[in-house]
Amino acid sequence: MTAPNRESSPVRQIRDQILQRRRFLITSHARPDGDSIGSQLAMAFALDALGKEVRVVNVDPAPDHYQEFPGMDRIEIASRVAEARVDAVIVMECSDIGRTGISGLEREYLINIDHHAGNQLYGALNWHDDTAAACGEMVFDLIQELAVPLTPEIATHIYLGILTDTGSFHHSNITPRTFDICRQCVEAGVTPAVMARRVFDSNSFGKLKLIGALLDDMELADEGRLAVMHLDDEMLAATGSTHNDTEGLINLPLTAREIQAVVFFKVTESGEVRVSMRSKYDVDVRQVASEFGGGGHKNAAGFTVTGELPDVRAGIVQRIVRAIADGLQTRPV
Ligand code: 5GP
Ligand code: MN
Repeated sequence: MTAPNRESSPVRQIRDQILQRRRFLITSHARPDGDSIGSQLAMAFALDALGKEVRVVNVDPAPDHYQEFPGMDRIEIASRVAEARVDAVIVMECSDIGRTGISGLEREYLINIDHHAGNQLYGALNWHDDTAAACGEMVFDLIQELAVPLTPEIATHIYLGILTDTGSFHHSNITPRTFDICRQCVEAGVTPAVMARRVFDSNSFGKLKLIGALLDDMELADEGRLAVMHLDDEMLAATGSTHNDTEGLINLPLTAREIQAVVFFKVTESGEVRVSMRSKYDVDVRQVASEFGGGGHKNAAGFTVTGELPDVRAGIVQRIVRAIADGLQTRPV
């Protein structure tokens, strides 16, 4: 959303409040991904540059392969922030405050920065732009508004957010602006080959074995247009992998030409089924997720349902098959 009057645009209001305040807490969603980590740490380095006090708090640790990036050691893990004693909490990437998985934030002065469709506008200040390919694009704009120079650390985290949230430049929300920001990040010192190797070529052997097991176990539905994958703790144990190794696996089936969408079921210990979806072109899995109480983007979305997998599976598969039929009507190629 861009307000007609630039002076009162959300990004400028946020800039003004940041400049007036001193102590900040930055958070993002549970099970953080590259865009949540990148957006948070780019912002943290920018606030450092302004001489502000900054804490970064997430409910879950980042996957191992992000540990090499600058500033990872400053992320605190907590499920509750009581009396944060900060002047503002910056919430990145969360369509509602519950997505943080952290309690006690509701009472704080919240600055909500997000690019997911359906944001609940829960902040004192809300900047919601669902045309941004990554929250990192928005953080880039904010940092420019704050007149903080693009250091190698900030550029690395902006690029990390964009690289991961576009599915390594696969998703449909990429614009000229995405590449313009990436160009500036590369000029500021980012090496794309290093970023790609760190993010995508840092698997453990256990993860390679898990890929084999998952693909072996994969089922096809809708005449090969939908891949159905399923993961449980036994597969992790049998392949010597951990939950940390599961990021990105959902994208593998999309490399087959015929496959238009993937659904990935993860059975949790608490009797819940975590459902992740990916799709190509106009197959809208966000719409599916929103009908089941979740959210995300057109090509990458998720939700959680209670129940046993055999009971919930068929209904979810059926709904995605419908989304594929709808999406194929406007498929660009
Ligand atoms: P993933 O499948 O990687 O967990 O999530 C894909 C996308 O969907 C991400 O942008 C993520 O933020 C969003 N998403 C996943 N699960 C949920 C959910 O339960 N609720 C909402 N609102 N968004 C979700
Ligand atoms: Mn994102």
